[in-house]
Amino acid sequence: MEELIKKAIEARDESYSPYSHFKVGAALKTRSGKVYAGTNVENASYGLTVCAERVAVYKAVSAGEREFEALAVFTEADELTPPCGACRQVLWEFSKDMLIILANTKGEKRLRLSELLPMPFERKEF
Ligand SMILES: [Zn+2]
Repeated sequence: MEELIKKAIEARDESYSPYSHFKVGAALKTRSGKVYAGTNVENASYGLTVCAERVAVYKAVSAGEREFEALAVFTEADELTPPCGACRQVLWEFSKDMLIILANTKGEKRLRLSELLPMPFERKEF
């Protein structure tokens, strides 16, 4: 999984974050073994900003991928940076038990998406 973190670091270098200056890189590994990377893309209309994690997921899904094995998120913040609630929900749609790797310059932590999102929204038939 070191390679996945490396891809997240590379993606972070492409961050478009002129407003927050908070650069995030994400790399998503599919069950088929491919890796899709993403970075956060901000906008002057702040609400239009998209997180690195969702950029990676949308790239992968657009390429036909539906099952994911792991996601690495890298920032240079002192604290590890987990995916926001919206990104957790988007990831859940495709792979509920995927591995999430949080990394910064000091270290890393691995956990399951189900730990990060214990009560997800799921579509029910009413
Ligand atoms: Zn997010």
